[in-house]
Amino acid sequence: MANVLVAGGAGFIGSHLIDRLVERGDSVVCVDNLSTGTRAHTALHSGDQRYRFVEVDVCEEGMPRLARGSGGCRFDAVMHLASPASPPAYLARPIETLDAGSIGTRRLLEIARADSARFVLASTSEVYGDPLVHPQNESYNGNVDPVAPRSVYDEAKRFAEALTMAYARTHGVAIGIARIFNTYGPRMRADDGRVVTNFVYQALAGEPLTIFGDGSQTRSFCYVDDEVAGLLALLDSHEVGPINIGNPHEVSIRDFADLVIELTGSSSSVGFQPAPVGDPLVRRPDITLAKRVLGWHPAVALRDGLRLTIDDYKSDRAT
Ligand code: NAD
Ligand code: UDP
Repeated sequence: MANVLVAGGAGFIGSHLIDRLVERGDSVVCVDNLSTGTRAHTALHSGDQRYRFVEVDVCEEGMPRLARGSGGCRFDAVMHLASPASPPAYLARPIETLDAGSIGTRRLLEIARADSARFVLASTSEVYGDPLVHPQNESYNGNVDPVAPRSVYDEAKRFAEALTMAYARTHGVAIGIARIFNTYGPRMRADDGRVVTNFVYQALAGEPLTIFGDGSQTRSFCYVDDEVAGLLALLDSHEVGPINIGNPHEVSIRDFADLVIELTGSSSSVGFQPAPVGDPLVRRPDITLAKRVLGWHPAVALRDGLRLTIDDYKSDRAT
């Protein structure tokens, strides 16, 4: 049983992670500024002595003190998921995104250093940018334009990885870096702006699905339960990484739209809109490393995960 600090725990992936941590007997402090998250996601744990929520920005100087609380608790692990994550969210908050990856990462690493805690960084496939190598394995250094609009996210995460490695090399902090690939499932915000939520809500409303570009670009979608299992496997290991945590099942956005229409039973059509600047053309994780060193691989097929997600969004629309 460990004492775990989860930054960004009121968000989509973070809240599922907290569910699993509390379930297995760990104590959790969640710090979150609620910029894209909501307390409702972890309301289940609000009466539980093993859970405490602190509304604070990870970049704030006083964050570590607030996270430790009046008892001055110490942490066995620090997990950093606090960052805007969807393209519309980070493009609307460019400087906050860079701050979360830099200042926020530094503050959380300092907590891990002081407590000799394990530090896990939620990095991203976006460190590979618009990849010239396919599928992407961890030795590929990426293709990121440092001044394009998306760079606020890509470079923030690349900097966060560099800072995390520097704390390991300089201060001996035990670190693990996860490169998360497109993850989906219950609790994504309806207005999140990512393709899964957009398509499912559009299909449920009978509206045209908005395909950006010609739809030939690909993504590889990982169900959230699998993603969280991978993050926990990394937390519980001594692996440094970076390690890709994603589902290698690759699909074009055009085919994904058809799948959503089929599984929702919708009469929606598809409509085409201009592709966003710098939209990666392909993305698929090589998960050889995760399989070998963590014994982890995804178990939920896209159709099954999508059915669960659609059911959740249906009940969300009904309330
Ligand atoms: P999310 O937006 O649902 O969750 C992020 C959480 O962080 C939110 O609760 C938000 O309020 C909080 N937050 C943001 N900035 C903060 C700050 N400065 N201080 C405190 N809290 C802050 O996104 P998500 O999809 O759950 O992503 C979680 C993490 O995983 C992010 O770091 C993201 O970059 C990474 N990631 C996610 C995906 C994905 O497909 N979902 C892919 C790659 C990487
Ligand atoms: N996309 C789309 N329609 C939408 C939202 C996204 O066609 O309504 C495309 C987007 O251009 C990208 C892919 O779907 O090629 C995945 O986008 P998302 O925002 O989910 O995440 P990304 O992988 O780009 O971070």
